[in-house]
Amino acid sequence: MEINFLGGASEVGRLGMLLKGGDATILFDYGVKPADPPKYPMDAPPVDALVLTHSHLDHCGLVPVITRNQTDVISTPVTFDIARILLEDSIKVSKNEGYPQPFTADDLESVGRNAVTVEYGDILRIGSFEVEVRSAGHIPGSCMYELNDHETVLFTGDVQTVDTHLVKGSSAVECDVLVIESTYAGRSHPDRSQTEDAFLSKVREIVERGGLAVVPCFAVARTQEILMALSDAGFEVWLDGMGREVSQHYLRHPSYLRSRSDLQKALRRSKVVRSQSGREEALKGDVIVTTGGMLDGGPVLFYLDRLKEDSRNGVLLTGYQVEGTNGRSLLESGTIDVRGVTSNIDCEVEYFDFSAHAGHDELVEFVDRCDPSTVVLMHGDAREALAEALEGRRCLLPDEGRWHPI
Ligand SMILES: [Zn+2]
Repeated sequence: MEINFLGGASEVGRLGMLLKGGDATILFDYGVKPADPPKYPMDAPPVDALVLTHSHLDHCGLVPVITRNQTDVISTPVTFDIARILLEDSIKVSKNEGYPQPFTADDLESVGRNAVTVEYGDILRIGSFEVEVRSAGHIPGSCMYELNDHETVLFTGDVQTVDTHLVKGSSAVECDVLVIESTYAGRSHPDRSQTEDAFLSKVREIVERGGLAVVPCFAVARTQEILMALSDAGFEVWLDGMGREVSQHYLRHPSYLRSRSDLQKALRRSKVVRSQSGREEALKGDVIVTTGGMLDGGPVLFYLDRLKEDSRNGVLLTGYQVEGTNGRSLLESGTIDVRGVTSNIDCEVEYFDFSAHAGHDELVEFVDRCDPSTVVLMHGDAREALAEALEGRRCLLPDEGRWHPI
């Protein structure tokens, strides 16, 4: 067998991995790297199937480019639903920002026409491979794929082994070759429940001093996770942005949730912004959970503009802030830039690690449980740190654009 990364081996984002074995060539994920302008993986050759792990744009952002050639794309129903929302939005964003768009609205329709929906536990055949679908524990509907032929290969996509409010963590699979993400190589997460306690205490402190807490969140999974964390705390919580629509899809696919009723309760306990006057109402509440997660667009910019001059207010970041984003600039210099205008944000700013990825220690433990003879580290910019911790196993750190035997 051989693999070739078209993108996303030595960096986080724009993932695409070709696997050639038996008589089949399979493409795993095909995404974009959010940047200004977005970055794409290398062109893909014709493949027998595209196997999609989940609905984040760095994994699914270029799926229409593959399906417009009538290639099957395999994933869970909820992944297709959410991917569609994000892909439609990415067409809009490119138009607004003036980026060339690599696919059209017609290409987007080809995703639905070529979608092969699977559930966890399903086994399908691609060439000589039997492919088993397993939960990756990362976000609702996220998959790992186990390929069985003469050897067993496991491709994790993004993986989380710890339970969150929204999804149960994934379980290890014994395999010969493990292709695993390395986003958090060399970095460990603080204890999840302590992070959540610290987050809730900070919200309480802000509210008690007369301020309002803005919680910028990605629409996919993080919004719902934060609403569930806030659910029993008794605050007046408002929800704005694309996370609303994503939540409704999650409720329609309960089998991918740890507890549908807990998500429903959290949504019922929050007020939804539906109009501009709703935004004014939300400004009178305690907490606003809103997109975008890195402050580069979405309703969060409206709220920041209204709240920026009062230091009693707080901006509580809940996701990793990529370099070059407003979120990173806010953390480092207390400013954001909107259409060339730089603003000072006088609110208290704090980052809470609600990551949906396994941290360094969990990755090492996961590898040990899978007990592969070969580990392929991908999707990371500090993979060496993980390779070091896996000493004694054959570790490959492939680069992009070349075939590597596995
Ligand atoms: Zn992801």
